[in-house]
Amino acid sequence: MSKLSSRLIKETARRIGFSACGLAHPGPLPAWREAEWRRFLLEGRHAEMNYLEKHLEKRLNPCLLLDGARTMVCVALNYAHSLAPLRDETPDENEENEWKLARYAYGDDYHDVMKQKLRLFLHELGLEEGAEARVFADTAPIDEKFWAMRAGLGAIGRNTQLILPQAGSYFFLGEMLLTAEADAYDDTAAHAAAKNVPLALCGNCRACIEACPTKALDGKGGMDAGRCLSYLTIEHRGALPPGTGFAMKDCFYGCDRCAEACPWNRRFAQETNCPELMPRPALTAMQREDWMKLSREDYTRLFRKSAVKRAKFEGLRRNIDALTEENSR
Ligand code: SF4
Ligand code: SF4
Repeated sequence: MSKLSSRLIKETARRIGFSACGLAHPGPLPAWREAEWRRFLLEGRHAEMNYLEKHLEKRLNPCLLLDGARTMVCVALNYAHSLAPLRDETPDENEENEWKLARYAYGDDYHDVMKQKLRLFLHELGLEEGAEARVFADTAPIDEKFWAMRAGLGAIGRNTQLILPQAGSYFFLGEMLLTAEADAYDDTAAHAAAKNVPLALCGNCRACIEACPTKALDGKGGMDAGRCLSYLTIEHRGALPPGTGFAMKDCFYGCDRCAEACPWNRRFAQETNCPELMPRPALTAMQREDWMKLSREDYTRLFRKSAVKRAKFEGLRRNIDALTEENSR
């Protein structure tokens, strides 16, 4: 079988709308990364996200997800928009008074958008999903930030996110596993030595650590998910820990504070040109008072085909009630 052209793969990725694309050899994670995963789980820093314990062997070696896998293609899809100030801009008073969702949550469900694009990608390369290729959009136990880093897209930052140089971190990550071999890869030793390692883009910066209202980040590129507002407001079921409403400030679904503090975002973030990820007008029209009154019917109408469904109506209502209570103090 002839080798796939890495140049053609990258050109196709660009044409489909991905901001970055890189190729790596799939295989077992290096010992340091495996140790990080095991420590994270052992120390219970994954909180109630028990799904992270499942299929650990696959997370530690993506070749178990596709027989004969020889190539991992990693892509990044920009979701940034300027509903909240995107770069070094000061919000005006009205914006400051509004309540909001995390930036990624204003468009269509990214799982669907990413999968659709990856399937188109496969089709354009003349490959079929199944025995020779699989696509992943945060839907399988893949250590996607590690593989994106290995494929040369950027480096994991102190805020635990994948930072693309001269672009920032407002990106969804996706992967394709292929049995075909490519003619060139981005996980060369020279590349790894240059910038393909955690914190390589952080230097002495600690802006995300200082911006985190719950001290969830450990400063070494790891976090305690049980303290993170993204986890608490989306994944966590049941009552919120005391003080969460105060920490949320104005965002009742997810949290962007460590991303918004990051100089890579503040200097380089660009608005997405993917129509499906642009903010839905029905969401941008919502004012604080509307959110306070959010009914199940509103929720169903506003969040059809949206990733926000993950928090369920009860979860969103709980978050809004926590903010409402905080604001009435
Ligand atoms: S998402 Fe928010 S709470 Fe979580 S680590 Fe970042 S700043 Fe802290
Ligand atoms: S804010 Fe600074 S330390 Fe944190 S991820 Fe960005 S560059 Fe790294």
